Formats: sequence, structure tokens, C-alpha cells
Amino acid sequence: MDFTHIKHPSPTDPSQRDNALQDPGFGTLYSDHMVTIDFHEDHTGPDGSWHNAVLGPRGPISLDPAAAVLHYGQEIFEGMKCYRHENGELALFRPMENARRLNDSARRMAMPTIPEDLFLESIKRLVEADKDWMPTIAGGSLYLRPFMFATEAFLGVRPAKEYKFMVIASPAGNYFKSGAPAVKIWISHDYVRAAPGGMGAAKTGGNYAASLVPQAEAIQNGCDQVVFLDAGERKWIEELGGMNLFFVMADGSVITPPLTGTILPGITRNSLITLLREEGLTVREEQYSIDQWRDDAKSGQLVEAMACGTAAVVTPVGSVADRDGEFTIGSGGPGQLTTKLRDALVGIQQGRIEDQHGWVIKL
Ligand SMILES: *Cc1c(COP(=O)(O)O)cnc(C)c1O
Repeated sequence: MDFTHIKHPSPTDPSQRDNALQDPGFGTLYSDHMVTIDFHEDHTGPDGSWHNAVLGPRGPISLDPAAAVLHYGQEIFEGMKCYRHENGELALFRPMENARRLNDSARRMAMPTIPEDLFLESIKRLVEADKDWMPTIAGGSLYLRPFMFATEAFLGVRPAKEYKFMVIASPAGNYFKSGAPAVKIWISHDYVRAAPGGMGAAKTGGNYAASLVPQAEAIQNGCDQVVFLDAGERKWIEELGGMNLFFVMADGSVITPPLTGTILPGITRNSLITLLREEGLTVREEQYSIDQWRDDAKSGQLVEAMACGTAAVVTPVGSVADRDGEFTIGSGGPGQLTTKLRDALVGIQQGRIEDQHGWVIKL
């Protein structure tokens, strides 16, 4: 697709930018540009109904107050990172998996899919325009947020006919503000994030909206993150608000909840399963209950637990709490396998370990 490039009239002052990049945190700083591409059901062109691709200055967008996204929540997003390797090359990690998943989410939300190559081109153009926003600090990356939402002004309930796809970029340092080596998580008994047949496997804002009250409850109880149980029995562990979970057993095997439609199929989750199996470890995608978790942690059958996702990569879970009390996992700090896996994955992403899977896409 032909992209229109609009130069930023007053980009951020380089010294101000470089100063901010010393400690970017997560999700508060933004680069100078953004991509927008429009979809209109009635439009026909070389890219079907997608048209008007623009790489332009980042800024507010105007939306009709009746835009369907504001009323019925047709919205999906992705999260991915661009890394700078030691030789200066920029690299994405498994970006086509993000393209595919965005389209899976789109289908669940009755939204149009976007050609995968157009998705990738959008990402590449934004990174190229804003590569100076890549943090130079250790562990830094440029977090990319592609998203799509319904723009059609229509209050009737049906899938909208008009959408916008956008990409913005945010320099990222460490996801967890405290920089704590292990997190404490809170079990939500009263709230669930997704039910069978619902939209738990789609990366959509609504799932996050459902997670905010229990997440606040977690914080009130001195925890960092909330873990959700299944909607039916409130027994089986599903995932955190935005991260998948792995359990490391004393016999060396690893358990992770199966993709039954209520949890998000994480790309980090998939990558870890691959790395673990290549190490010769048994990974079982099977249900694991909260009672078993507590018992196994206490008996020593369970030695480590970790949460994973693009933003935080791999994070050790040190302890777990709910209204009945608290239990510690292993030593309460980062476990051996967790640390090893994290180093392996981050090493591949940052180009220090050879990529044998075709996961790293250089720009
Ligand atoms: C994005 C997300 C994840 C992690 O997916 P990655 O592809 O590994 O970043 C896990 N759970 C939820 C609910 C998510 O939205």
C-alpha cells in the first residue's frame, strides 16, 4: 500500500528526548509519529477495504461521539517490542505472530482482518521514523502498540462498517516499577476475566476492563498482580490480567494452563514452551487447580512459578495470597529455571544468543 508520510512539524527536542530515554519506565513516554490506516466496508482498492495509510505526527484523533467503539467496545490491540542489537541492528520478535493474533482477535470481535504484510509494513515504517526513540539503557526496547477500533457513527447494534488501524510506539525500560525480582500475586475469587464462549482469547480492551477492579483489590492487599480462576468452578488457574503462567515441578516437568478459549494465547508462552521442550523438559498444557498449587508449594512438589508476556518477558512469582492467607513458592525469589529461561529468551530477543527458530526479524 502507498503510505503518505507527513513530517512532524515540531519533533521532540533531541536533548529532551535523550534525557527522557534514560528512565523511560513503561507506557508513559511516546515517540513522535504514528500510523493510521482506514477501513470502510464500501471502499474497494488494491488492499480491499483498507485505504489511506498515513505515517504522520503523533497526536489526538477526532472521533464522532457515536463511534461504535465508544458504545459497544469493538476494539483490539497487540503489544510487541523492537530491540536494538549490539551491532546496532533493529529487530522485532515474531511480529507475524502478532499479525495473525490481531486477525484472530478481529474475527472474534466481528471486525475486519488486516493483511499481514500491511500490518508488518506499518510497524517497520513507524520504527524507521522513530528509531531515535529506542532507549539506549540496558534492557530497553521500543514497545509497539498496534490497535484497531470501530469508528462508524451508528448506535444500532451490529458490527460497524468503518474502522481505524493505528500503531503508536512507547520507549520501555522495566515493566514493573519496583524492579522487584519476584512478584506477589493475588487470587481473585469474586471476579473472573473471561468465561467459556466469551472473548478471553481475544486481545481486546474489554478483558482488561474486567480485570481492573480485581487488580485494584490485589494492590489493596499488598500484591502486584491478580491471578484469575476459571469462571465455572473458580478452581482452575487461568492467567494474570496480561500474562500467562508456568509452574515448575520438583521432577523438572512444567505445567501451563491449556488454551481452551478463556486465556490469551501468548507469544511469550508459546516461545517458552518451545525452549523448554528443546531443553528436553516435559511441558504439560493441562489444568492446574489453586488447591493443588497451594499444596504443591507447601510440600515442595512445586519449586517455581513464573508469569510471562511481552512487556515483562519472564517474571518470577514469589508468593501468592488470597483472603485465606498466603503461601511462598520455593525460596520466594527468582528460581533457577525461571532465571535461565528469561536469560535465554531475552538473549535471543536482544541478539546475544543465536536465533535458531527464525523468530528474530531484522529491520
Ligand atoms: C498480551 C497478553 C498476554 C501475553 O501475550 P504475549 O504475546 O506473550 O505478549 C497474556 N495474557 C493476556 C490477557 C494478554 O492480553
